[in-house]
Amino acid sequence: MNIPFVNLRRQHASLQPYLNEALQAVVDSNQVMGGDRLLQFESAFAKKVGVQHGVACGNGTDALELILRALDIKAGDEVIVPANGWMSAAEVVLLVGAKPVFVESHPLYYTLDPAQIEKKITAKTKAIIPIHLYGLAAAMDQILEIAKHYHLKVIEDCAQAHGASIGHQKAGSFGEAAAFSFYPTKNLGALGDGGMVVTQDKTLAEKVRTLANHGQSAKHHHTSLGRNSRLDTLQAAVLQVKLPFLEAWNNRRRAIAQYYQEQWQGLDLVLPEVPSGYQSVFHLFVIRHTYRDKLAEFLLSCGIATEIHYPHALPAMPVFRPLVPDSQAFPIAMSQAKQLLSIPIYPELTDEEVDYIVHKVKKGCRRL
Ligand SMILES: *Cc1c(COP(=O)(O)O)cnc(C)c1O
Repeated sequence: MNIPFVNLRRQHASLQPYLNEALQAVVDSNQVMGGDRLLQFESAFAKKVGVQHGVACGNGTDALELILRALDIKAGDEVIVPANGWMSAAEVVLLVGAKPVFVESHPLYYTLDPAQIEKKITAKTKAIIPIHLYGLAAAMDQILEIAKHYHLKVIEDCAQAHGASIGHQKAGSFGEAAAFSFYPTKNLGALGDGGMVVTQDKTLAEKVRTLANHGQSAKHHHTSLGRNSRLDTLQAAVLQVKLPFLEAWNNRRRAIAQYYQEQWQGLDLVLPEVPSGYQSVFHLFVIRHTYRDKLAEFLLSCGIATEIHYPHALPAMPVFRPLVPDSQAFPIAMSQAKQLLSIPIYPELTDEEVDYIVHKVKKGCRRL
């Protein structure tokens, strides 16, 4: 059997007639930028998250940067970011001229460890960017409490967490604003790049919209220094087709995750943990193994592709290293980076493929 790490071909094959129709409708309408389709998708997506406003933009990284700019975070400010995760959060802090301050990874959940935040707060700290990593929401109760106490803004990186929740509350509705990515491999993905800022705050949403449109508050009236960051109407049409399937796709991911969990109990590996009351959407199924590279090699020899998210903790990345006097100060993130392994988990996996993966991981673990 040959199991790629993701298989978008299958997802698109099942949607082909709907996608063709939606794309053709955009072509026929001759409205390829903006328009009702885009606005409809913005409000439909914001509604799913449970917030008032959605402002589409070019990608998830832009969404984060636009939020920081709209909140006037700039040179001289510090922003708390996780040591483990995709780099966009730390990257955009640098892009607006502020300083990313890394916080250690949680030993079980891999998200920002709330117990490690307070000691990193200074008079310059303005915001916290938790990443809801691998589909699991960060510890928002504690993060919001700390933020309230120190008057910090909370900006959620939801690029891996479309539909994730804590209790009945969806990721993306906890902070000042949240950034989503519609990169093709995310739980909700376009046929190219895309992103969205969601927020309950109307003024903030308007600021983001202006900034994403050349600082233009009315046509040919540029009131602030903005940029160009748009979601193509074609991509909005694709996302509109896919949005109604998100919940079913997430449920299938959860069912596969639960099966992996049951089948791999007692093996010499660390399975992902979900705190009680949290619903992960398993963007990734990340295990930990002492001989990670050997296990990955064995699985590859069986035709199963795996990936590593992420092979380097962010404080150890060359681009961020100058900001971190002691990169050894993140022993948990560093050791996780050496052991984490992402096993294929996507809604289109067949039961047969899932069983094959289950069997080969067992076999691999027993051999190592
Ligand atoms: C994918 C991703 C991003 C960036 O999204 P793009 O649309 O690729 O810019 C940001 N944060 C996390 C956690 C991601 O996984």
